[in-house]
Amino acid sequence: MHIIEHIDKAKGKGPLFSFEIVPPSRGKSGQEILDVVEMLLPYNPSWIDVTSHSSSAYYREKQDGSLERRTVRKRPGTLGICGIIQNRYKIDTVAHVLCLGFAKEETEDALIELNFLGIHNVLALRGDTPNFQKSFGKEKTLNFYAHDLVSQINELKKGRFLEDLDSAHPLNYCIGVAGYPEKHYEAPSLKLDVQNLKRKVDAGADYVTTQMFFDNKQYFDYVEHCRAAGITVPIVPGLKVIRSVKQLQSLPKSFHIDLPDQLVDEITENPEHVVEIGKRWALKQAQELMANNVPSVHFYVLNDAPTVCEIVKELQR
Ligand code: FAD
Repeated sequence: MHIIEHIDKAKGKGPLFSFEIVPPSRGKSGQEILDVVEMLLPYNPSWIDVTSHSSSAYYREKQDGSLERRTVRKRPGTLGICGIIQNRYKIDTVAHVLCLGFAKEETEDALIELNFLGIHNVLALRGDTPNFQKSFGKEKTLNFYAHDLVSQINELKKGRFLEDLDSAHPLNYCIGVAGYPEKHYEAPSLKLDVQNLKRKVDAGADYVTTQMFFDNKQYFDYVEHCRAAGITVPIVPGLKVIRSVKQLQSLPKSFHIDLPDQLVDEITENPEHVVEIGKRWALKQAQELMANNVPSVHFYVLNDAPTVCEIVKELQR
Protein backbone atom coordinates (compact mmCIF):
# COMPACT_ATOMS: atom_id res chain seq x y z
CA MET A 1 0.00 0.00 0.00
CA HIS A 2 1.18 3.52 -0.69
CA ILE A 3 2.35 5.61 2.30
CA ILE A 4 -0.14 8.25 1.37
CA GLU A 5 -2.96 5.66 1.67
CA HIS A 6 -1.71 4.66 5.13
CA ILE A 7 -1.87 8.31 6.14
CA ASP A 8 -5.32 8.87 4.60
CA LYS A 9 -6.79 5.73 6.20
CA ALA A 10 -5.50 6.66 9.66
CA LYS A 11 -7.07 10.14 9.67
CA GLY A 12 -9.07 10.56 12.86
CA LYS A 13 -8.19 7.02 13.99
CA GLY A 14 -5.07 7.61 15.98
CA PRO A 15 -1.35 7.79 15.45
CA LEU A 16 0.82 5.89 13.00
CA PHE A 17 4.39 4.91 13.77
CA SER A 18 7.07 4.52 11.13
CA PHE A 19 10.74 3.69 11.44
CA GLU A 20 13.96 4.31 9.57
CA ILE A 21 16.75 1.75 9.54
CA VAL A 22 20.21 1.55 8.00
CA PRO A 23 21.68 -1.40 6.04
CA PRO A 24 24.59 -3.13 7.83
CA SER A 25 28.15 -2.16 6.91
CA ARG A 26 29.80 -4.14 4.12
CA GLY A 27 30.97 -7.47 5.52
CA LYS A 28 28.39 -7.61 8.34
CA SER A 29 25.60 -10.17 8.43
CA GLY A 30 22.23 -9.27 6.89
CA GLN A 31 20.64 -10.89 9.95
CA GLU A 32 21.67 -7.78 11.94
CA ILE A 33 19.08 -5.61 10.25
CA LEU A 34 16.44 -8.34 10.30
CA ASP A 35 16.92 -8.58 14.08
CA VAL A 36 16.14 -4.86 14.26
CA VAL A 37 13.02 -5.32 12.10
CA GLU A 38 11.87 -8.22 14.31
CA MET A 39 12.28 -6.04 17.40
CA LEU A 40 10.04 -3.39 15.78
CA LEU A 41 7.34 -5.84 14.59
CA PRO A 42 5.28 -5.93 17.85
CA TYR A 43 4.78 -2.15 17.53
CA ASN A 44 2.89 -2.42 14.22
CA PRO A 45 5.10 -0.31 11.99
CA SER A 46 2.97 1.35 9.31
CA TRP A 47 6.05 1.46 7.14
CA ILE A 48 9.82 1.10 7.40
CA ASP A 49 12.31 3.27 5.51
CA VAL A 50 15.66 1.79 4.48
CA THR A 51 18.43 4.33 3.83
CA SER A 52 20.70 4.30 0.79
CA HIS A 53 24.41 5.12 0.68
CA SER A 54 26.57 6.21 -2.22
CA SER A 55 30.24 5.30 -2.46
CA SER A 56 32.98 7.13 -0.63
CA ALA A 57 36.73 7.21 -1.16
CA TYR A 58 39.34 5.90 1.27
CA TYR A 59 43.07 5.13 1.25
CA ARG A 60 44.52 1.64 1.74
CA GLU A 61 48.15 0.96 2.54
CA LYS A 62 49.79 -1.35 0.01
CA GLN A 63 52.52 -3.91 0.88
CA ASP A 64 55.24 -1.52 -0.34
CA GLY A 65 53.96 1.14 2.10
CA SER A 66 52.44 3.35 -0.58
CA LEU A 67 48.83 4.43 -0.39
CA GLU A 68 46.19 3.26 -2.81
CA ARG A 69 42.94 5.22 -3.26
CA ARG A 70 39.81 3.11 -3.41
CA THR A 71 36.10 3.76 -3.49
CA VAL A 72 33.46 1.62 -1.87
CA ARG A 73 29.80 1.70 -0.86
CA LYS A 74 30.14 1.09 2.85
CA ARG A 75 26.50 0.11 3.25
CA PRO A 76 25.16 -1.62 0.14
CA GLY A 77 21.99 -3.72 0.09
CA THR A 78 19.07 -1.27 0.28
CA LEU A 79 17.06 -2.99 -2.46
CA GLY A 80 17.52 -6.51 -1.09
CA ILE A 81 16.69 -5.49 2.47
CA CYS A 82 13.55 -3.69 1.28
CA GLY A 83 12.55 -6.85 -0.62
CA ILE A 84 12.90 -9.04 2.49
CA ILE A 85 10.99 -6.66 4.77
CA GLN A 86 8.20 -6.22 2.25
CA ASN A 87 7.78 -9.88 1.39
CA ARG A 88 8.79 -11.77 4.55
CA TYR A 89 7.21 -9.46 7.11
CA LYS A 90 4.48 -7.90 4.89
CA ILE A 91 5.39 -4.39 5.98
CA ASP A 92 5.36 -1.57 3.48
CA THR A 93 8.90 -0.51 2.84
CA VAL A 94 10.22 2.81 1.62
CA ALA A 95 13.45 2.50 -0.35
CA HIS A 96 15.64 5.59 -0.28
CA VAL A 97 16.86 6.50 -3.77
CA LEU A 98 19.67 9.01 -4.35
CA CYS A 99 20.69 11.36 -7.16
CA LEU A 100 24.38 11.58 -6.25
CA GLY A 101 26.51 8.62 -7.24
CA PHE A 102 23.89 7.12 -9.53
CA ALA A 103 23.18 7.77 -13.23
CA LYS A 104 19.53 8.09 -14.26
CA GLU A 105 19.96 4.79 -16.11
CA GLU A 106 21.05 3.04 -12.88
CA THR A 107 18.16 4.66 -11.01
CA GLU A 108 15.70 3.40 -13.60
CA ASP A 109 17.09 -0.14 -13.21
CA ALA A 110 16.82 0.12 -9.40
CA LEU A 111 13.20 1.28 -9.67
CA ILE A 112 12.36 -1.61 -12.00
CA GLU A 113 13.96 -3.99 -9.50
CA LEU A 114 11.99 -2.47 -6.61
CA ASN A 115 8.80 -2.81 -8.62
CA PHE A 116 9.51 -6.52 -9.24
CA LEU A 117 10.06 -6.90 -5.48
CA GLY A 118 6.57 -5.47 -4.85
CA ILE A 119 7.88 -2.19 -3.41
CA HIS A 120 5.86 0.86 -4.42
CA ASN A 121 7.20 3.52 -2.05
CA VAL A 122 10.41 5.51 -2.41
CA LEU A 123 12.00 8.52 -0.72
CA ALA A 124 13.70 10.61 -3.42
CA LEU A 125 16.85 12.35 -2.15
CA ARG A 126 19.79 14.22 -3.56
CA GLY A 127 22.30 12.67 -1.15
CA ASP A 128 25.33 14.51 0.22
CA THR A 129 28.24 15.41 -1.99
CA PRO A 130 30.48 12.33 -2.06
CA ASN A 131 34.18 12.81 -1.38
CA PHE A 132 34.96 11.78 -4.94
CA GLN A 133 33.25 12.22 -8.30
CA LYS A 134 32.21 8.99 -9.95
CA SER A 135 32.75 9.35 -13.72
CA PHE A 136 29.77 8.31 -15.76
CA GLY A 137 30.77 8.84 -19.38
CA LYS A 138 28.84 10.88 -21.89
CA GLU A 139 26.28 8.15 -22.62
CA LYS A 140 24.83 8.42 -19.07
CA THR A 141 22.58 11.17 -17.68
CA LEU A 142 22.37 12.54 -14.14
CA ASN A 143 19.85 13.91 -11.66
CA PHE A 144 21.29 16.87 -9.76
CA TYR A 145 18.58 17.97 -7.34
CA ALA A 146 15.96 15.78 -5.68
CA HIS A 147 13.24 17.46 -7.79
CA ASP A 148 15.02 16.12 -10.93
CA LEU A 149 14.84 12.63 -9.45
CA VAL A 150 11.16 13.10 -8.51
CA SER A 151 10.49 14.11 -12.14
CA GLN A 152 12.23 10.95 -13.39
CA ILE A 153 10.13 8.75 -11.08
CA ASN A 154 6.99 10.62 -12.07
CA GLU A 155 7.74 9.91 -15.74
CA LEU A 156 8.01 6.19 -14.91
CA LYS A 157 4.60 6.44 -13.22
CA LYS A 158 3.29 7.45 -16.65
CA GLY A 159 5.11 4.54 -18.31
CA ARG A 160 7.74 6.85 -19.82
CA PHE A 161 11.16 5.26 -19.55
CA LEU A 162 14.47 6.91 -20.52
CA GLU A 163 14.41 5.01 -23.78
CA ASP A 164 11.22 5.12 -25.86
CA LEU A 165 9.51 1.79 -25.21
CA ASP A 166 6.35 0.57 -26.89
CA SER A 167 3.46 -0.13 -24.47
CA ALA A 168 5.68 -0.04 -21.36
CA HIS A 169 4.07 -0.83 -17.99
CA PRO A 170 3.93 2.23 -15.73
CA LEU A 171 5.77 1.87 -12.40
CA ASN A 172 3.41 2.87 -9.67
CA TYR A 173 5.31 4.75 -6.97
CA CYS A 174 4.30 6.86 -3.99
CA ILE A 175 7.10 9.42 -3.73
CA GLY A 176 8.35 10.95 -0.47
CA VAL A 177 10.92 13.73 -0.21
CA ALA A 178 13.00 15.31 2.57
CA GLY A 179 12.14 18.55 4.41
CA TYR A 180 14.24 20.57 6.86
CA PRO A 181 12.46 22.43 9.71
CA GLU A 182 15.77 24.15 10.52
CA LYS A 183 16.53 24.74 6.79
CA HIS A 184 18.84 22.64 4.63
CA TYR A 185 22.42 23.67 5.40
CA GLU A 186 23.16 24.84 1.84
CA ALA A 187 20.03 26.97 1.43
CA PRO A 188 20.58 30.71 1.93
CA SER A 189 17.23 31.08 3.72
CA LEU A 190 14.34 28.99 5.00
CA LYS A 191 12.08 30.77 2.53
CA LEU A 192 14.19 29.65 -0.46
CA ASP A 193 14.50 26.16 0.96
CA VAL A 194 10.72 25.88 1.27
CA GLN A 195 10.39 27.14 -2.33
CA ASN A 196 12.74 24.32 -3.35
CA LEU A 197 10.61 21.87 -1.36
CA LYS A 198 7.63 23.12 -3.37
CA ARG A 199 9.53 22.30 -6.60
CA LYS A 200 9.73 18.69 -5.37
CA VAL A 201 6.02 18.59 -4.61
CA ASP A 202 5.16 20.23 -7.95
CA ALA A 203 7.34 17.59 -9.66
CA GLY A 204 5.17 14.84 -8.12
CA ALA A 205 6.14 14.23 -4.47
CA ASP A 206 3.24 12.85 -2.42
CA TYR A 207 4.53 13.55 1.09
CA VAL A 208 7.47 14.95 3.04
CA THR A 209 9.49 13.40 5.87
CA THR A 210 11.44 15.87 7.98
CA GLN A 211 14.97 15.90 9.20
CA MET A 212 15.20 15.19 12.94
CA PHE A 213 14.44 18.10 15.29
CA PHE A 214 14.44 18.35 19.09
CA ASP A 215 12.12 21.31 19.54
CA ASN A 216 8.57 20.73 18.27
CA LYS A 217 8.07 24.45 17.71
CA GLN A 218 10.48 24.16 14.78
CA TYR A 219 8.27 21.51 13.18
CA PHE A 220 5.01 23.40 13.78
CA ASP A 221 6.51 26.63 12.38
CA TYR A 222 7.89 24.73 9.38
CA VAL A 223 4.50 23.21 8.58
CA GLU A 224 3.02 26.72 8.72
CA HIS A 225 5.69 28.05 6.33
CA CYS A 226 5.07 25.16 3.95
CA ARG A 227 1.28 25.63 4.00
CA ALA A 228 1.73 29.37 3.37
CA ALA A 229 3.93 28.49 0.38
CA GLY A 230 1.14 26.31 -1.06
CA ILE A 231 2.54 22.91 -0.04
CA THR A 232 -0.48 20.81 0.92
CA VAL A 233 0.96 17.27 1.14
CA PRO A 234 1.42 15.52 4.54
CA ILE A 235 4.59 16.46 6.43
CA VAL A 236 5.77 13.56 8.61
CA PRO A 237 7.91 14.59 11.60
CA GLY A 238 11.19 12.69 12.12
CA LEU A 239 12.42 12.05 15.69
CA LYS A 240 15.74 10.78 16.98
CA VAL A 241 16.38 9.60 20.52
CA ILE A 242 19.62 10.85 22.07
CA ARG A 243 21.48 8.09 23.90
CA SER A 244 25.04 9.32 24.45
CA VAL A 245 26.83 12.48 25.54
CA LYS A 246 28.91 12.27 22.32
CA GLN A 247 25.76 12.90 20.29
CA LEU A 248 25.58 16.45 21.67
CA GLN A 249 28.48 17.12 19.27
CA SER A 250 27.90 14.58 16.52
CA LEU A 251 24.20 15.19 15.75
CA PRO A 252 24.53 18.96 15.11
CA LYS A 253 27.70 18.32 13.06
CA SER A 254 26.28 15.53 10.91
CA PHE A 255 22.72 16.75 10.47
CA HIS A 256 23.10 20.56 10.73
CA ILE A 257 20.52 20.85 13.51
CA ASP A 258 20.37 22.71 16.83
CA LEU A 259 19.77 21.13 20.22
CA PRO A 260 17.66 23.06 22.76
CA ASP A 261 19.57 24.58 25.71
CA GLN A 262 17.36 22.75 28.20
CA LEU A 263 18.21 19.33 26.70
CA VAL A 264 21.94 20.10 26.49
CA ASP A 265 22.01 21.45 30.08
CA GLU A 266 20.16 18.41 31.47
CA ILE A 267 22.59 16.00 29.79
CA THR A 268 25.78 17.89 30.63
CA GLU A 269 24.70 18.22 34.27
CA ASN A 270 23.72 14.52 34.51
CA PRO A 271 25.81 12.65 31.91
CA GLU A 272 25.27 9.32 33.71
CA HIS A 273 21.52 9.64 33.05
CA VAL A 274 21.82 10.51 29.35
CA VAL A 275 19.81 7.47 28.19
CA GLU A 276 16.93 8.26 30.56
CA ILE A 277 16.95 11.97 29.65
CA GLY A 278 17.03 11.25 25.89
CA LYS A 279 14.15 8.81 26.20
CA ARG A 280 12.03 11.18 28.27
CA TRP A 281 12.67 14.03 25.83
CA ALA A 282 11.67 12.00 22.77
CA LEU A 283 8.58 10.63 24.55
CA LYS A 284 7.44 14.16 25.39
CA GLN A 285 8.04 15.34 21.83
CA ALA A 286 6.09 12.40 20.39
CA GLN A 287 3.17 12.91 22.80
CA GLU A 288 2.85 16.57 21.80
CA LEU A 289 3.11 15.75 18.08
CA MET A 290 0.43 13.07 18.43
CA ALA A 291 -1.83 15.49 20.30
CA ASN A 292 -1.51 17.73 17.23
CA ASN A 293 -2.58 14.93 14.86
CA VAL A 294 0.62 14.60 12.85
CA PRO A 295 0.39 12.11 9.95
CA SER A 296 2.83 9.66 11.61
CA VAL A 297 5.60 9.77 14.17
CA HIS A 298 8.70 8.67 12.27
CA PHE A 299 11.63 7.40 14.38
CA TYR A 300 15.20 7.40 13.13
CA VAL A 301 16.02 4.03 14.70
CA LEU A 302 19.51 3.60 13.23
CA ASN A 303 21.23 1.31 15.75
CA ASP A 304 19.01 1.87 18.76
CA ALA A 305 15.88 -0.21 18.35
CA PRO A 306 15.43 -1.16 22.05
CA THR A 307 15.07 2.46 23.20
CA VAL A 308 12.71 3.35 20.35
CA CYS A 309 10.63 0.25 21.18
CA GLU A 310 10.35 1.32 24.84
CA ILE A 311 9.09 4.75 23.77
CA VAL A 312 6.55 3.42 21.28
CA LYS A 313 5.31 0.89 23.85
CA GLU A 314 4.66 3.79 26.23
CA LEU A 315 2.92 5.78 23.46
CA GLN A 316 0.67 2.85 22.54
CA ARG A 317 -0.58 2.31 26.11
P1 FAD B 1 17.41 18.72 -2.49
O1 FAD B 1 15.96 18.77 -2.28
O2 FAD B 1 17.92 18.55 -3.89
O3 FAD B 1 18.03 20.05 -1.86
C1 FAD B 1 19.43 20.19 -1.65
C2 FAD B 1 19.75 21.69 -1.53
O4 FAD B 1 19.60 22.30 -2.81
C3 FAD B 1 18.83 22.47 -0.60
O5 FAD B 1 19.60 23.47 0.01
C4 FAD B 1 17.80 23.08 -1.54
O6 FAD B 1 17.23 24.26 -0.99
C5 FAD B 1 18.65 23.36 -2.75
N1 FAD B 1 17.93 23.31 -4.04
C6 FAD B 1 16.99 22.42 -4.43
N2 FAD B 1 16.61 22.67 -5.69
C7 FAD B 1 17.33 23.73 -6.13
C8 FAD B 1 17.40 24.46 -7.36
N3 FAD B 1 16.67 24.11 -8.42
N4 FAD B 1 18.26 25.51 -7.43
C9 FAD B 1 19.02 25.86 -6.36
N5 FAD B 1 18.99 25.22 -5.19
C10 FAD B 1 18.17 24.15 -5.07
N6 FAD B 1 21.14 10.91 2.60
C11 FAD B 1 21.64 9.75 2.09
O7 FAD B 1 22.76 9.75 1.54
N7 FAD B 1 20.94 8.57 2.19
C12 FAD B 1 19.72 8.49 2.76
O8 FAD B 1 19.12 7.42 2.82
C13 FAD B 1 19.16 9.70 3.31
N8 FAD B 1 17.94 9.69 3.89
C14 FAD B 1 17.40 10.89 4.35
C15 FAD B 1 16.10 10.87 4.89
C16 FAD B 1 15.52 12.05 5.36
C17 FAD B 1 14.11 12.03 5.91
C18 FAD B 1 16.26 13.28 5.30
C19 FAD B 1 15.67 14.55 5.83
C20 FAD B 1 17.54 13.29 4.77
C21 FAD B 1 18.13 12.10 4.27
N9 FAD B 1 19.40 12.09 3.70
C22 FAD B 1 19.92 10.91 3.20
C23 FAD B 1 20.22 13.31 3.65
C24 FAD B 1 20.05 14.09 2.31
O9 FAD B 1 20.55 13.34 1.23
C25 FAD B 1 20.85 15.40 2.45
O10 FAD B 1 20.25 16.22 3.42
C26 FAD B 1 21.11 16.18 1.17
O11 FAD B 1 22.10 17.17 1.46
C27 FAD B 1 19.90 16.92 0.58
O12 FAD B 1 19.00 16.04 0.05
P2 FAD B 1 17.57 16.58 -0.51
O13 FAD B 1 16.94 15.42 -1.15
O14 FAD B 1 16.86 17.29 0.55
O15 FAD B 1 18.12 17.59 -1.64
